[in-house]
Amino acid sequence: MNERAVNIKVGNVDGKSVIYWMSREQRAEANFGLLAASEYAKEHRLTLVVTFCLVSEFLGAAPEAFAFMGEGLPEVEADLKAKNIPFRLLHGHPPTKVAGFAKEIEAQAVFVDFDPLRIKRAWCSELLLQFAGSVFEVDSHNIVPTRLASGKKEFAAYTIRPKINKLLPRFLVEPPELAAEEGVQKLYENDFSVFESLPKNRYFRGGRGAALPKLKEFLDEKLDGYARDRNNPTKDAQSELSPYLHFGHISSLEIALAVSGAKANEESKAAFLEELIVRKELADNFCFYCEDYDNENSLEPWAKANMAITDEEPREYIYSQEEFEEAATHDELWNTAQNELKLKGKIHGYMRMYWAKKILEWTPGTKDAFKIATYLNDRYALDGRDPNGYAGIAWSIGGVHDRAWPPRKVFGKVRYMNYNGCKSKFDIKKYILKIKELSGKGQGELF
Ligand SMILES: Cc1cc2nc3c(=O)[nH]c(=O)nc-3n(C[C@H](O)[C@H](O)[C@H](O)COP(=O)(O)OP(=O)(O)OC[C@H]3O[C@@H](n4cnc5c(N)ncnc54)[C@H](O)[C@@H]3O)c2cc1C
Repeated sequence: MNERAVNIKVGNVDGKSVIYWMSREQRAEANFGLLAASEYAKEHRLTLVVTFCLVSEFLGAAPEAFAFMGEGLPEVEADLKAKNIPFRLLHGHPPTKVAGFAKEIEAQAVFVDFDPLRIKRAWCSELLLQFAGSVFEVDSHNIVPTRLASGKKEFAAYTIRPKINKLLPRFLVEPPELAAEEGVQKLYENDFSVFESLPKNRYFRGGRGAALPKLKEFLDEKLDGYARDRNNPTKDAQSELSPYLHFGHISSLEIALAVSGAKANEESKAAFLEELIVRKELADNFCFYCEDYDNENSLEPWAKANMAITDEEPREYIYSQEEFEEAATHDELWNTAQNELKLKGKIHGYMRMYWAKKILEWTPGTKDAFKIATYLNDRYALDGRDPNGYAGIAWSIGGVHDRAWPPRKVFGKVRYMNYNGCKSKFDIKKYILKIKELSGKGQGELF
């Protein structure tokens, strides 16, 4: 069994099959949960079956996110079929449906994806109660598994970086290839038509077949200039891989190996790997060890004391959730970022910070800012509902993983960002024009 797997329940079932319950890692390749289940099936002479359970609502996600996911699932089915592995699409409350399916096919064990979000952990706990067999949890999302990287909530990137770097040589290695199953398997007829009527994001197509060319385009055309241009929202210097990483259409391990081996500027490679490994894995650490990852209770003591003062300060502008959602603030730059979110399903990384910090500045207090930023990001971002989003919002609004700065109005000691700061970094008019030109290509028409 690979060292990414943790046996979270020792069962007492002698079954005929083993299930890999695919959830966060929606791919057949470089998937350690699937590999571990395959190994277990071979060792115990059981049939391997993969299942995915579709819910009709997930943390407020817009239909475009479901459509994006729906573009990937038939590819998963086909890739598994090529390995003679059955794939079953279920619908409904996941733990109940997976436990029911396990009973139906007499499963001895279920392998689940590691996921630090509360909803996924609650599903997993329910499965433990409803299923009598063994349950294994496998971390295939982080290059260094979260549980191994650190046993506690890390204070900042500088505290987790040495821990990750120490273990990296052990985990930053080519994953084994998935072996085909032998014998005649019962292959299921899955119906994906439920996704057909959903509105699609016209900028991003979901699935591994779209993720791999995106990676290639990044390696060939953007990686070299990443260190120089990634913080400039008028340039397309970032990889745009976050929606694919979020749904697991591609793994960070595959990307990191490709980037490490690429012929490109070393500074750019290092800057990219810092984001993809240290920052991304710090976000999983944050959500795993802090249940309040999406609210003000996640703040460090200095930031809580700060919040007690700044929440009392009068704001120059106050907007409702609806006004933010409609991009109806006085600030054209902020409205543009919000329109980018709605059109494209993703805001440029630099503008994401400005976007969240202004929500803090224009709401009555920190608690409201967390609620509104989380609602908007989870609803409209293709890569939302993700530890990276919760950590990014907590960093922007509450100084999580950051330090105290010289006090400013409304922000207090939380790092401040303003329009003039953006003006000195990039051509604001050019960014606004660029997003206007997106209209008609993204999730909707806004201008
Ligand atoms: C307020 C706010 C909200 C955010 N919401 C999300 C979100 O919902 N989903 C999401 O994936 N990221 C989020 N981020 C983090 C970051 O902005 C995005 O990961 C990045 O913009 C994604 O675009 P990309 O893939 O082109 O990034 P690239 O620059 O190409 O980076 C490659 C990958 O590295 C990781 N990464 C990059 N920057 C960060 C970071 N600051 N923290 C953690 N991981 C990082 C991501 O997995 C990203 O896909 C948020 C940041 C902030 C400040």
